[in-house]
Amino acid sequence: MTNRTVLYGIGVSAGTASGPLAVVRPAVGVDDNEPAAIEGDSERVKATLQEVAESLKQRAEHANSATSKQVLEATATLATDRGLIRGIEKELKKGTGVTHAIHDAVEVYAGKLRKLGGYMAERVTDLYDIRDRATARVRGLPEPGVPDFAEPSILVAHDLAPAETATLDPERVLGIVTEGGGATSHTAILAAQLGIPAAVQVKDILGAIDDATPLAIDGGVGEVIVAPSDSDVNELEERSRRRAEALAGSSGEGATRDGYKVKLLANIGTAEDAEKASKFDLEGSGLFRTEFLFLDRDSAPTVDEQTETYTRVLRAFGKRRVVVRTLDAGADKPLSFANLGEEENPALGRRGLRLSMVREDLLNDQLQALANAHANVPEAELWVMAPMVATVEETQWFCDKARGYGLPKVGIMVETPAAAIRAGHVLSIADFASIGTNDLSQYTMAADRMQGELAELLSPWQPPVLNMIKATGMGGYATGKTVGVCGEAGGDPLMALVLVGLGITSLSMAPTKVNAVRAALRLHDMDTCRQMANYAVDAPTAKEARENVLKIADPVLRDLL
Ligand code: PEP
Ligand code: MG
Repeated sequence: MTNRTVLYGIGVSAGTASGPLAVVRPAVGVDDNEPAAIEGDSERVKATLQEVAESLKQRAEHANSATSKQVLEATATLATDRGLIRGIEKELKKGTGVTHAIHDAVEVYAGKLRKLGGYMAERVTDLYDIRDRATARVRGLPEPGVPDFAEPSILVAHDLAPAETATLDPERVLGIVTEGGGATSHTAILAAQLGIPAAVQVKDILGAIDDATPLAIDGGVGEVIVAPSDSDVNELEERSRRRAEALAGSSGEGATRDGYKVKLLANIGTAEDAEKASKFDLEGSGLFRTEFLFLDRDSAPTVDEQTETYTRVLRAFGKRRVVVRTLDAGADKPLSFANLGEEENPALGRRGLRLSMVREDLLNDQLQALANAHANVPEAELWVMAPMVATVEETQWFCDKARGYGLPKVGIMVETPAAAIRAGHVLSIADFASIGTNDLSQYTMAADRMQGELAELLSPWQPPVLNMIKATGMGGYATGKTVGVCGEAGGDPLMALVLVGLGITSLSMAPTKVNAVRAALRLHDMDTCRQMANYAVDAPTAKEARENVLKIADPVLRDLL
């Protein structure tokens, strides 16, 4: 029996939960000390692949959607594919050890599928899944990935890949706890998107649990209780109740207490997200991360496919605003069909708009599809923006191109200090700017957003980051152009007040965060927001910036955090 232990990490998706846990394990890779193949290994591998196929078929039976069922069934069939088995036998005959034989044969097979392109190329991801499951089984280790759990559970992992998180079922996943990751990692973003309470950077969680330990989580403050007592569970329920009370009556347009309007928008990544978000009480979408549509694809989407998806998204929001970001591939969101090869520093490399400038074909298709979707839904308020802009030339290039497709409102993301401190210049060309605080923090503080250990440096409360936001707000003011925020900072009710005080007029966030931000705005007038902004920017440290702002906030705000 595990002892009660309280661990703290960073809360990235508010809400509380308690229940059993399920551990997500990483892929184990080849066994470097394995012996050469012996007779009987071929039969052993065949039996293992058969087991993998059976377990996938069983999962398919419990799949939560027709799509996942199909994917699982197709993967099960691929596990016993004759070509794959022949490939492994060929490797074993050379004397190659079992796990190496599986990996080598899969690589050859994956190469063939990639050459075939289209649907076949997309199967490569499934093939790697089979490889990793089979490798773990022959090594006598648990299968990697999200396990098949009977009861709704809290997932515990060292880290989760964005593609893994995107497929989680919020009905069955009560919470997510990771040892690694950061507040602006895409896994955290997706968890908030799905409305699953989540905490990252919970050190030593894997060492503190066994498979039978119950857990409790408060994803707002980042608290995780291993083997919670009844009174812990009651206390969490009490916190939920106070929060619900503070949120009561939060509805309608976003505005400060004295009526300054602040548009409250949703961050989305798929057409399903759009359909779900459109049912929330919010004013549209301030960030459609289009690359999330293609995370697990091996081939570029066609114009028709994209037109269909974008049309669905615009239809979901009707006349409400939808800000679409063009493909932001590279660095932490690698796409296999938009890969320019290995780079020493991918976050500083050819990602975002820089990649689109090399692969103009991908951007052209996307802009054409957006123009088509707009023609299908002319009443939509479609805005389009580019990620990772650093210069006036890039801004001009993108704006000219997008306007060439007849797109009515063309803007840029401010994610680099270069764009922030020259916001007046870029905004004299672009129609609007949206600050991506996740990347702006990473680049201002020179701290990799993927590096969970650097969480403190990555906080948007860092005064230098606030200086960048202030400069962007001033650029917007000077040019009369709108400046919004669509990074994770916009979803923090306290930070939202500071942003508004810095001149931000729209905030885009996970839809589940909108109510708390709206309630926070209603509690404060614009003068207070401006005072908060001054306190925060003038503070010497991130900690003092937050503390100073909290001191002048309405006491009810604490229940919203
Ligand atoms: C950001 O960088 O703040 C942003 C909104 O873009 P992403 O998180 O997708 O990089
Ligand atoms: Mg970004």
